[in-house]
Amino acid sequence: MLEGKTYYLRTFGCQMNVNDSEHIASLLLAEGARPASQVEDSDFILVNTCAVREKSVEKFFSYLGRLKESKEKRGSLLVCLGCVAQIYREELLRKFPYLDLIVGTNQYSAIPFFLRNLLEEKRVQTGRKKGWLELPIAREARESQVSAYVTIMEGCNNFCSFCVVPFARGREKYRPLSSILKEVKELADCGCLEVQLLGQNVNSYRDPESGAGLKELLAEIAEVPGIEWIRFLTSHPKNFSPELIRAMVSSRKICHQLHLPLQSGSNRILKKMNRGYSREDYLNKIDLLRSLMPDISLSTDIIVGFPTETEEDFAMTMELLEKVRFSNVFSFRYSPRPLTAASKIKDDVPDQTKIDRLIRLQAKQKDIQLELNRNYLMKTIKVLCLGPSKKGNLFAGRSEWFQVVNFSSPNNVSLGLVQVKITGCGPYSLHGELSG
Ligand code: SF4
Repeated sequence: MLEGKTYYLRTFGCQMNVNDSEHIASLLLAEGARPASQVEDSDFILVNTCAVREKSVEKFFSYLGRLKESKEKRGSLLVCLGCVAQIYREELLRKFPYLDLIVGTNQYSAIPFFLRNLLEEKRVQTGRKKGWLELPIAREARESQVSAYVTIMEGCNNFCSFCVVPFARGREKYRPLSSILKEVKELADCGCLEVQLLGQNVNSYRDPESGAGLKELLAEIAEVPGIEWIRFLTSHPKNFSPELIRAMVSSRKICHQLHLPLQSGSNRILKKMNRGYSREDYLNKIDLLRSLMPDISLSTDIIVGFPTETEEDFAMTMELLEKVRFSNVFSFRYSPRPLTAASKIKDDVPDQTKIDRLIRLQAKQKDIQLELNRNYLMKTIKVLCLGPSKKGNLFAGRSEWFQVVNFSSPNNVSLGLVQVKITGCGPYSLHGELSG
């Protein structure tokens, strides 16, 4: 048991990492450990890491450097978890000899056991598990009580040439549909209104017991009383089928919002990235989505400066940006990731060119977002209130289309679905006042 011990858990990276941290916190709470509000007060400092971009690894390395002092002051034990642990284990041991434990992406269930043994010796735990391992999440470990992440699969078989995920997370593993449904029903019973189904490639989900796919899973979840909004990510354009698009309109509980990573608008670059679709395939899917859900909001990921990317290739990405008009774009400069196929190609686009392209892309996208958000002015929309906003005396929430909405109210607002009249907007959020 870890009775009486305190832990501080910091998370870098995507929603999958946030959900993994909720699992880990649950395990620690079940052992009797308690969360500390700051690093200085903790017996265990755990950092859940992301290796998808070079920048996130650098950020983590610099954070690790800063933790040395806090660790030594109290004699805390420092633990690195997640994708960086899986990929950079030797480098971590060399550069940060004061790290006490390194735990890869497939070893989370044994974390309490590892912590109990920590004082005996340093350990690296980065082996692979076979099949799906159930790790329940305690209610108090959840980031929100009305919106929850539910992991449905992990890993990826796609091997996009730039991506480290198949090496960090391993091949695809699917969670049984019965266990997903059980978790969703329990969440609904506790007042959760929104579930976000997570996986690196959710479109390839297959129930290991019945073979049912994402379409069937969505239909089952839509039947769960109490659940009002359902989202899923990340989708891959290659596997995003017309049947799945049609399934999205089969229930109004499935939000008209989708993250569909494009990565590049150039067919030549898409091929080098091993993405398995062309710009035409991508646009055809967008057309079908919009014909069935005219109000759908679409977000995407774009990498600029992939090896050999020319101005013409980049212009094709910019052209697609204008054509699709995404409500949000996560854009990055290419950086070679260890073990990937692209890391063996010469990284020949100069840094300054990558920076220039990123600035141009982000400026255009900012204008598009502002224009799109203006369409909501003076409309009253449904918002899932997530609590007080960090800004002033406001409340914060999300719309069905996944915009951040900050709104005022003369009285306190409980967590849950409310109506908000939109009175202002910027490129990144909507503002309004509680209506009715
Ligand atoms: S689909 Fe490609 S980008 Fe996405 S996780 Fe798999 S390998 Fe990475």
